[in-house]
Order: sequence, then C-alpha cells, then structure tokens
Amino acid sequence: MRVFSVPMRTRFRGITVREGVLLRGDAGWGEWSPFLEYDPQVAEPWLRCAEEAAAGDWPAPVRSQVPVNVTVPAVGPEAAHAVVRRGGCGTAKVKVAEPGQTLADDQARVEAVRDALGPTGRVRVDANGAWDVDTAVRAVAALDRAAGGLEYVEQPCASVEELAAVRRRVGVPVAADESIRRAADPYRVRDLEAADIAVLKVQPLGGVRACLRIAEDIGLPVVVSSALETSVGIAAGIALAAALPELPHACGLATVQLLTDDVAVRPLLPVEGSLPVGAARVDPDALDRLAAPADRVAHWESRLAAVRAVRQDRRP
Ligand SMILES: [Mg+2]
Repeated sequence: MRVFSVPMRTRFRGITVREGVLLRGDAGWGEWSPFLEYDPQVAEPWLRCAEEAAAGDWPAPVRSQVPVNVTVPAVGPEAAHAVVRRGGCGTAKVKVAEPGQTLADDQARVEAVRDALGPTGRVRVDANGAWDVDTAVRAVAALDRAAGGLEYVEQPCASVEELAAVRRRVGVPVAADESIRRAADPYRVRDLEAADIAVLKVQPLGGVRACLRIAEDIGLPVVVSSALETSVGIAAGIALAAALPELPHACGLATVQLLTDDVAVRPLLPVEGSLPVGAARVDPDALDRLAAPADRVAHWESRLAAVRAVRQDRRP
C-alpha cells in the first residue's frame, strides 16, 4: 500500500490537499481515498471499490470513450471562464450555493460559463443540498435564465422529500447525488419520484459492479461522477460509465485537472471532451514524488485497520 498526498489547484469541497491510499492487488492498483472526516463504517464501501479494481474484477465495457464535463468550482466569473476554456469539454458542471456567496455570484459564474462554452454547450449546476425548497425554486429559475437553459440541477436540497418537492415546481430536470450515496436507502429517490437523473460514485457505493446493480434497479439515466480521485480511482469510474447500457449525459470524471499532480504515467485528462476506457498505469516516480509524510502514512494505516475491524464485527 502507498499513501499519496496531492495539493489541489483550488480549494474544493473544503479541502486543499487530496490524500489517499493506492492498494496493489493481483491485477493492478486500486484507490482507497475516503474523505478524512468519514468514519470506518462510511469508508468501508470505498475499500471494496479499491479491492475490486486491484483484483481486476470490472465488467466488460460497451464503449471505448466516456464523454465528460469540466467542473467549475465556486470561483469568480473570470476564473470560471478560464476553467471552461482550459477544460475543452462540451459540458460544464458549475458549483453553486457555496456558503458565504450570493445568488448573484452564482448567476455571474453561470453566465461566464455559458459564454465560454458557446450556445451548443450544456450547463449543469450542483448545489450540494444547500438550498431549502423555496430558495431552490427561485435559484433554479434564475440560473436557468443565466445559463440560457440548464441541463439539470444536482442535489438542490438535502433531503429526498425536498428534492421531490423541487422537482414538482421547476421545469429543469433534477439529479440526485448525496440522496443516493449517503442514504440508508438509495431507492427512496426512485420511490418518491424525486429525481430525473442518478449521480453514482463508485467509491462511496462500493465499486463498479455494485453501482451497475444500483443503476439497473433505480431505472434512471446515470451520470458517473468522481470523488476527486487520482487517475487510478477515476479509471474505476470510467469502468462503470463504460459498462452502462445507456450513457445520455457527460460524466463528472474530468477532475484530475483539479489536482496539481497525478500518480499515472498518462493522467486521465479529457481529450476533445472524452476520457479513454481502461486501467491507469501507475508511475513509480510519481508514487515517490507524491508520497505522504510518515505521520500521514500512520494515520491511513490505522484507518485501514479500523475499516477491517468493522468488517470483522459484521461477520456473524
Ligand atoms: Mg454532487
């Protein structure tokens, strides 16, 4: 096992350094990078995803390229414009409803993104559950105008009930993210007709095959998104996107560009808006260059031991 530590280009999801573990198995490497605040129960499915990758146990792909979106953090309009131009994708996902910012900030960012993409690009926004229902209805209408049409709004509110309420009051499609991956029951989104699109992330949901089953059972179009992994973890997300029977939307897997460095020989950065399907080849020099300091290695070793202890406790 190797512990990596990679600085982020911009603060994202409240973090400035991405840390995690690469585990080596019979078939190659898998990434285990649960966020630092997650307890062992929550981090356990993330480990299943890494083990599946290291064992080479991915389903057969039905496509060789996966279209992806560029991700725009909650930055000012000029920076947002530059991120989209640099990203080279036809779809942009814009973070909105950032604490401390206003709807006017979001509108300015979304307008800049539309300007950078041109009229044929698709713009989606992600509120990470920050709005209440009334705020969401108002904000979605305003951002839909600012974007000249939104592809969808992701997780406008925190709860499944609120998502369902927003979905009934806006014309923009609603995507569920946290309501699936953090929920005790991911299928409540389906049962309450709370979303038009399911966002699936392979690490929190226990791997590629586990996500493929959820996709089948939930019966909604799927957008595969990352958990800010290195190329090793992104390759697992790509494996899911490559195995889905239908893939009508670009995936949120072009996030290696949010990191200042990467562990792969050829980092998974989009070319003409797509990523290639296949495992990432790990660069031994990069593993040395990005090796975490000893105290962080010790931290991750104890986290791994705690997750394995959780598994022991679950056995009958
Ligand atoms: Mg999201």
